[in-house]
Amino acid sequence: MAFDPEKFARQNIRRLVSYSSARHEFAGDAEIYLDANENAFGSPVKTQLNRYPDPLQMAVKEKIAESKGVDPAQIFIGNGSDEAIDLLFRIFCEPGRDEVIICPPTYGMYKVAADINAVFIEQVSLTTAFQLDVPQILRAITPATKMIFICSPNNPTGNAIDREDILHIAGSFQGVVIVDEAYIDFSSGLSLIDEIGNFQNLAVLQTFSKAWGLAGARVGMAFGDEQLIALFNRVKAPYNVSQLAQDTILAAWNNEAEVKSWIQRIVEQRQLLADALNGLEFVQTVYPSDANFLLVKVVNAEAVYSFLLKEKIVVRDRSNVRLCEDCLRITIGTPEENGRLLLSLKSFGKN
Ligand code: PMP
Repeated sequence: MAFDPEKFARQNIRRLVSYSSARHEFAGDAEIYLDANENAFGSPVKTQLNRYPDPLQMAVKEKIAESKGVDPAQIFIGNGSDEAIDLLFRIFCEPGRDEVIICPPTYGMYKVAADINAVFIEQVSLTTAFQLDVPQILRAITPATKMIFICSPNNPTGNAIDREDILHIAGSFQGVVIVDEAYIDFSSGLSLIDEIGNFQNLAVLQTFSKAWGLAGARVGMAFGDEQLIALFNRVKAPYNVSQLAQDTILAAWNNEAEVKSWIQRIVEQRQLLADALNGLEFVQTVYPSDANFLLVKVVNAEAVYSFLLKEKIVVRDRSNVRLCEDCLRITIGTPEENGRLLLSLKSFGKN
């Protein structure tokens, strides 16, 4: 199905003449830069920060493009993937009029971003197997529905969503389907980035915050058809990713092998922790996980949560989330941390 994101964007965005920064107008090499009102005397820290960074982060995009097998024009880089989520609302949804579909239990920012942008939310719960309820999603679509958010692997349930279901929805829907793959590096499943050439209405989000261990750098990515990415670039702040963040990502590539080994260890620890948790009598279910956390159903989540806090261990209590009653979400730590967690849990209810 042909999808023209330009026609689908908000009226004001279609008309928007985007801000043109100094470094946007001149991207070549010069000897003297007197175009951007920077401080030519220097930077008070070692890294050269008196100059504005590349607004389109081309060096970083080339690295990512090479590793993901896409074109740099199919990549948006943001201040975390949270920036990409917010931009999607601002690009496509008329406040007070348009709708999006989300599938709870899922990542909380889709709703927060919708609320901030005054966009209506249609919630279509996942099935009890934490998969998409495809017929209900298709029924929930109205002429005002602009986007459908799918998180795979899903936070907080941890499972990957069936690829065929996602593609079926992308093929049946006239709007934008967002697949948030923040946790994809921990999954044995394949990314949907491979499909952006087949579905012009598909946006795939990934991040450096999880597997890459760079949550503090705040760098996220959106992958999509060139036209879709062009809209992100039109709306984003001129210098949305700092020089520090761009340098950090480039430097991180030198340690790619270490990152890969961490991922492997996290996946191993996930299995060990799941097995050990299954042996505890107050643990009812450890749900299968494709992510760097486990969703664990216990007899009394609140009691376990408070007990762990007293032990100075903090996990996430998800018991007030639909389909996650009495569930805790536990991030996979180092072997030492996981060992301490298990030791504490073994003493739960014993005194
Ligand atoms: N998507 C999901 C599913 C997440 O869990 C998170 C972080 N909790 C994000 C996106 C945001 O990540 P970032 O640090 O890239 O903004």
